[in-house]
Amino acid sequence: RKKFRIAVIGSGNWGTAVAKIVAENAAEKKSLFEHEVRMWVRQEKVGDMNLTDIINLHHENVRYLPEVRLPDNLVADPEIRNVAEGADLLVFNLPHQFLGSVCDQMKGIDFSRSSAISCLKGLNVSAQGVELLSNVVEEKLGLHCGVLSGANIASEVAREKWCETTVAYPLPKWYKPGEIDEDLIKALFHRPYFHVQVSSDTAGVSIGGALKNVVAIGAGLVEGAGWGDNAKAAVMRRGILEMIKFGVTFFPGTLPETFTNESAGVADLITSCAGGRNVKVGRAFARTGKPLEEIEKELLNGQSAQGIITAREVHELLSEKNMLNEFPLLVAIYEVAHGKLHISQLPDRIAD
Ligand code: NAD
Ligand code: 13P
Repeated sequence: RKKFRIAVIGSGNWGTAVAKIVAENAAEKKSLFEHEVRMWVRQEKVGDMNLTDIINLHHENVRYLPEVRLPDNLVADPEIRNVAEGADLLVFNLPHQFLGSVCDQMKGIDFSRSSAISCLKGLNVSAQGVELLSNVVEEKLGLHCGVLSGANIASEVAREKWCETTVAYPLPKWYKPGEIDEDLIKALFHRPYFHVQVSSDTAGVSIGGALKNVVAIGAGLVEGAGWGDNAKAAVMRRGILEMIKFGVTFFPGTLPETFTNESAGVADLITSCAGGRNVKVGRAFARTGKPLEEIEKELLNGQSAQGIITAREVHELLSEKNMLNEFPLLVAIYEVAHGKLHISQLPDRIAD
């Protein structure tokens, strides 16, 4: 049986943590996977050295995941086509605003028998409507793409503190026995400290990850305003209801249970509202009133808080569709975070 070649596209905080996981499994499961896992790193200098050289020499991504030893078989490569060509499975892991331009750099590569997993948390929203990021990958590159999402703060996962995650990987039309299937996906991602649950609900898993980023900004806003844990819990409760409604409205067939039962739903919402980057940004906004992008730059050292963009995109979509009244929490979070609504008005805005 052939061995599968794995490539990782992206090497930020979560990108590097997931690359560590798949490289560990590739090294252990020698009959399934090629030993070397290549990771595309957008080149940058750290001091006078290339980030790729630092990663390959010292096995540490000092820029985005410091103080975590990476496996020797994980190789950083600044040439994306070199990483992607010939890969059987591509693991996409980037801040979602860069997905389109990164896919464009791989145009023309024959992916007709390759698969992908998107670990991104976001949506693609345009005047025409809303699309899953896994569909963007499929349309732009002809890759068959599943999703991975869960309660997975990268710094904890990278330190091998136990958590769960959710994966959805429907089989491609061209599937035949021996090709990549759910079991193979599980073999690639499951670790003693990273437990993989399989779901059939690609849309539910994707929407959970995208919208919890917006709700986490909301949790940060009430926290920064000096309100207590009760208020934060109320935002989370209303948040999950709107996440479910968004799913079943825009992606018919989405399962409400995905949000209530899976790591990609309620568990991700809880961990993100406790210790994520989006909650930090919301909190700082409530305290300082500085623009969100400025706070992101000051606090996150080159990392991204995806909820900033997703809140704006979702607001645009709902406005376009004349549905602002149907998602009062998501809309209020956007408005408060842009100085258009005072936080004191939030409870009445979202009242049942
Ligand atoms: P990050 O927030 O650490 O962002 C930094 C990365 O973005 C770097 O690799 C950088 O090279 C890259 N980047 C910057 N400008 C770019 C450009 N113009 N083009 C392409 N790449 C560029 O990234 P991350 O934490 O790996 O997040 C990736 C995805 O994973 C996001 O959708 C995020 O929501 C999700 N996620 C993050 C975490 C976490 O704890 N960090 C956990 C689960 C899921
Ligand atoms: P933040 O992007 O808000 O840090 O959330 C990380 C995450 O997705 C945890 O599951």
